[in-house]
Amino acid sequence: MKDSDLATTGLVRQEPLLWEKGREGREGFSMPRRDVDSFPMDESLVGPKPEVPSLSEVEIVRHYTRLSTWNFGVDTGMYPLGSCTMKYNPKVNEKLASLPGFAGAHPLLPERMVQGNLRLMFELERHLAEITGMDAVTLQPAAGAQGELTGMLLIHAYHKSKSRTPAKILVPDTAHGTNPASAALCGMRPVSLKSGDNGILSKEAVLDLMDEDTAGIMVTNPNTLGLFEENLKEIAEIVHAKGGLVYGDGANMNAIMGLVDIGRIGVDILHLNLHKTFSTPHGGGGPGSGPVCVNRSLEPFLPVPRIVERGEEVALSEDFPLSIGRLHGFYGSFGIMVRAYCYILSMGAEGLKQASRLAVLNANYIKERLKGIFHLPFDRPCMHECVFSDRFQKAQKIITVDIAKRLMDYGFHPPTIYFPLVVDGAIMIEPTETESKEDLDLFIEAMKIIAEEAKENPELLKKAPAKCKVKRLDETLAARRPCLAG
Ligand SMILES: *Cc1c(COP(=O)(O)O)cnc(C)c1O
Repeated sequence: MKDSDLATTGLVRQEPLLWEKGREGREGFSMPRRDVDSFPMDESLVGPKPEVPSLSEVEIVRHYTRLSTWNFGVDTGMYPLGSCTMKYNPKVNEKLASLPGFAGAHPLLPERMVQGNLRLMFELERHLAEITGMDAVTLQPAAGAQGELTGMLLIHAYHKSKSRTPAKILVPDTAHGTNPASAALCGMRPVSLKSGDNGILSKEAVLDLMDEDTAGIMVTNPNTLGLFEENLKEIAEIVHAKGGLVYGDGANMNAIMGLVDIGRIGVDILHLNLHKTFSTPHGGGGPGSGPVCVNRSLEPFLPVPRIVERGEEVALSEDFPLSIGRLHGFYGSFGIMVRAYCYILSMGAEGLKQASRLAVLNANYIKERLKGIFHLPFDRPCMHECVFSDRFQKAQKIITVDIAKRLMDYGFHPPTIYFPLVVDGAIMIEPTETESKEDLDLFIEAMKIIAEEAKENPELLKKAPAKCKVKRLDETLAARRPCLAG
């Protein structure tokens, strides 16, 4: 550490490692006086004494508190990371999920001792079915991508029950990247389906490619351009007519909660991301929860154990002979389910719809205020996110990554960049419903200033971020040889 890095005010710019701070003899807490004889440890059993630094309690508290202020999260500011729904989640849901009866319940407890928890899961399934318009739900998958894999296994099981083994599956170029990966993992060959000039799928494109050797289609709706797949009902009819199934990637349900009856559109299987839409923050390494909703004809194939009602009681049942089996030890990420359940009940049906309407309104507000300043490849009403590109700034040799880095200087987490792949230099902004108009205006103002800077002083953008603790990193080196000491 250089002297110049030492803090002289409360604004700490560097923080040594605990190992560097430690001093022999300091203690974090005092052990009570020993009232038994000391007994030498057998090093062959416990190994050598671990090397841990010696610090006082206040040193440790300050160390971690300082580190926490270097972080950025939804509790610090706007986090418009497209496709990830980084919305603010009410703290009451965290509090309820940490109640001892929820947080402390061991998964091997007998069913009669966890009736409340099983009842919560049973009801959560019913709520999710109602919100989506589907018939039955499994809460097992631990992520969106695992939900997709579950969906592919269900499609496979369905065709097998009809003595068919189709080899292909249609995946639009506006689908989430995990879609083709999940299909391939299940042994199906993803066939890329081109979206139209308006950013959505046409029934003609599906008609061209759909045949009897195709298991179905995986449609992300709203798609990764933030657009609603308006032709999905007709597309579903084409797919069904050839014996295929329609898989819906519903990770973006935040845009349409309770507003769109997915079942009636013709979707047979749909996954949700509880850790985006239903009150668990996305990112941070999990755990997540990716429930899968299906229509009646696919219910027999759902993973076991299933949560069933037996008279007054709720039980876990393995008694589903056509089931694809287990996807998770036990029955999924329970803590995430509790948060989702609390969120749904506290919002109520009207509240959920309103949240979606506001998410859509906020994204359209940003789209309208920034269009003309940043290139908008698809100029039509969007859902919960809008996608710009760096086309206007390229003349000054300013590209998407420069714009994203400069936003950090203005106190915003950058949007998702270079995704979706169908837009060159994409900047994908998802404000979410939890931002106020004032905060949206601040973000828009920052984007406008950045567009000006790109014209007048492009160097500023090339050097961004200038105000953050860590400046522009060599991203390859940062990934290959990360410096974890800060
Ligand atoms: C986030 C996302 C996924 C993947 O979800 P994970 O929980 O990260 O596996 C799939 N599809 C879409 C559209 C998403 O936004």
